[in-house]
Amino acid sequence: MHLDLSADQIQIRDAVRALCQGEFAAHAAEWDQKDDIPRWAVDKLAEMGLLGMSIPEAWGGLGYDLRTTTMVIEEIARVSGALAILFAVHNSVGAYPIYEFGTDEQRKRWLPKLTTTDMGVFSLSEPGSGSDAAALSATAVRAGDDYVLNGSKNWVTNGVHAATFLVFARTGGPGPKGVSAFVLERGMKGLSIGKCEDKMGLRGSHTVTLMMDDLRVPASHLLGKENEGMKVALGSLEKGRIGVAAQALGVMRAAFEAAVKYSQERQAFGAPIAKIQAIQFKLAEMERRVQAAKLLIQRAAWLKDRGKPCGREASMAKLYTTEAATWVTHQAIQVHGGYGYVKEYAVERYYRDVRVMEIYEGTSEIQRLVIARSMLRDGVTV
Ligand SMILES: Cc1cc2nc3c(=O)[nH]c(=O)nc-3n(C[C@H](O)[C@H](O)[C@H](O)COP(=O)(O)OP(=O)(O)OC[C@H]3O[C@@H](n4cnc5c(N)ncnc54)[C@H](O)[C@@H]3O)c2cc1C
Repeated sequence: MHLDLSADQIQIRDAVRALCQGEFAAHAAEWDQKDDIPRWAVDKLAEMGLLGMSIPEAWGGLGYDLRTTTMVIEEIARVSGALAILFAVHNSVGAYPIYEFGTDEQRKRWLPKLTTTDMGVFSLSEPGSGSDAAALSATAVRAGDDYVLNGSKNWVTNGVHAATFLVFARTGGPGPKGVSAFVLERGMKGLSIGKCEDKMGLRGSHTVTLMMDDLRVPASHLLGKENEGMKVALGSLEKGRIGVAAQALGVMRAAFEAAVKYSQERQAFGAPIAKIQAIQFKLAEMERRVQAAKLLIQRAAWLKDRGKPCGREASMAKLYTTEAATWVTHQAIQVHGGYGYVKEYAVERYYRDVRVMEIYEGTSEIQRLVIARSMLRDGVTV
């Protein structure tokens, strides 16, 4: 249930649902097993214009607001968490910051391909800095009309296939005020892609390391102002966190739906297990958490779409939904009994896929810090 949707929102949601159920659902387990999402799946998204989902029409996108984008992420995650992170990272933190913080010249250079064929990347984390992102140590030193970048990045989602990399490096002193954002392109001399992580879940979404070795980029690749890169990073992360919540919601919905179906089919003690009150209580709790998560996500996205502050709401949506998704997928396996523990049933994959959502784009601990700081500074929400 989504509140108050326009005919246009219903149309795009239903079209994406049909694409996901018709084209992707049958392949999601195979992508997980092979640890690879084939290019044709991205091409299907591109054919519908979804690579430019939130970029304004004037710049070649579909111009949808965040609330609609979260519904699309949810539908994709309902069949494949791995495809959902690929899509969400590209849209929310790969392509959109180039529109939001870029000059018209930069938009003209990168958006035509990012809205049609190319994948985008957001590369803030490093081997030595994750939660403490402003402690990053990659450097960008001004040299005439260029910058020379050195250092390594890790956990780069979409890094294997991306053509455009939004990367953060240090141009000034220590801390958040010495960081700048740069747009790098595949094939640049000095840019190399390292190992692909062998992950517990979201298999098929590639997560790689990235090395910059005397990588020379023209100053025209600086996104935003020098030393103001953390504004780009933090501004993008609000959207990103709401997007992660939508990923978690999609997977937990799939787990909930699977649990309901299985409970009505599986017989024990002469009746479907759905007749057992202990199972009913689990299903009721799942539904409660799914619906509560949906409302928190819609509220955060609604605020963001109206340009209102939403840092606290984005964190609450992400924190609640990802923890709820861990609980729901755990219980969905319990409802399936032993069958929930084997790959023949998708709940096994859902359980592995949601675990990382409590970690990336800010861990649950960091979300709690953001919520508490905002509450103590600006007052409680009434
Ligand atoms: C599959 C995957 C994909 C990812 N994709 C991307 C990507 O595309 N781009 C990108 O830039 N990054 C990406 N990341 C990185 C991700 O954002 C970081 O892993 C995350 O921010 C946590 O950082 P860390 O792993 O260094 O953990 P750490 O920061 O070392 O944290 C370790 C533990 O300490 C806790 N902790 C740290 N500081 C505090 C504190 N002040 N208060 C309380 N607890 C604290 C954390 O919550 C955590 O439990 C990805 C990670 C994964 C696993």
